Amino acid sequence: MIYFVGAGPGAPDLITVRGKELIERCDQIIYAGSLVNPALLDFAKKDCKIYNSASMTLEAVVDRFIYGEKERWLTVRLHTGDPSIYGAIREQMDALAACSIPFAVVPGVSSFCGAAAALNAEYTLPGVSQTLIISRSVGRTAMPPKEDLSLLAAHGASMAIFLSTGLIEDVRSKLLEAGLAPETPAAIVYKATWPDEKVIRGTVDTLPAMRIELGADKTALILVGGFLENAYERSKLYDPAFSHGFRNKEQIRKK
Ligand code: SAH
Repeated sequence: MIYFVGAGPGAPDLITVRGKELIERCDQIIYAGSLVNPALLDFAKKDCKIYNSASMTLEAVVDRFIYGEKERWLTVRLHTGDPSIYGAIREQMDALAACSIPFAVVPGVSSFCGAAAALNAEYTLPGVSQTLIISRSVGRTAMPPKEDLSLLAAHGASMAIFLSTGLIEDVRSKLLEAGLAPETPAAIVYKATWPDEKVIRGTVDTLPAMRIELGADKTALILVGGFLENAYERSKLYDPAFSHGFRNKEQIRKK
């Protein structure tokens, strides 16, 4: 059996209980070494076989899965954050299905959640934005034309931009091309939840300077939108003048 496990954004205690228990029990781990915190491997049994997929091809990873299955091993495929976001797990799942090898996915805390925590931010602020766009700049993976940042950013929604700090000039131009004001708030969160986490705040206009200040290209997210500012409306959910399924405003008045 193969488990695709979300390792979380970095801090080893941000993996799920289910994910940690699988690491403790498994016979083989294939982990995405470029981003997964190796401290998570300390949970593994002493004789657990450990492979870093950073230098492996899809075929080599699938060979390890098949070998493990022949040995009747429990295999953990450890991906950073949540495996459903830029995890390249679909092709692995399809390869397993083609060999009739059973698998399951254990979700994880994505780095965009870790970044919000680092910023003390809420992406869905009433009166500001009720939508979070998760996207990336065009790199070696082509972007569907309708998903170009210059079109997505026109919504004015909160944005979490992955895999793009190395292309920050391009991100800035696309955001401006979309019509965002140069002073729209922006932040770069580097290694969210790791001990060396860094938060740099600025605006869309200052994004390239913020990256220079950070001095790193990898393991960072670009966050953009009014949610990074202080103005918003309070929520209806906790408003005493508003009733919902779990709370009646008349009852609150009587108390
Ligand atoms: N599945 C992962 C994303 C993998 S793509 C997730 O759910 O988070 C790799 C990109 O994720 C990096 O280029 C970076 O943009 C982002 N990333 C991953 N971990 C991060 C972290 N701890 N802090 C900031 N960005 C991170």
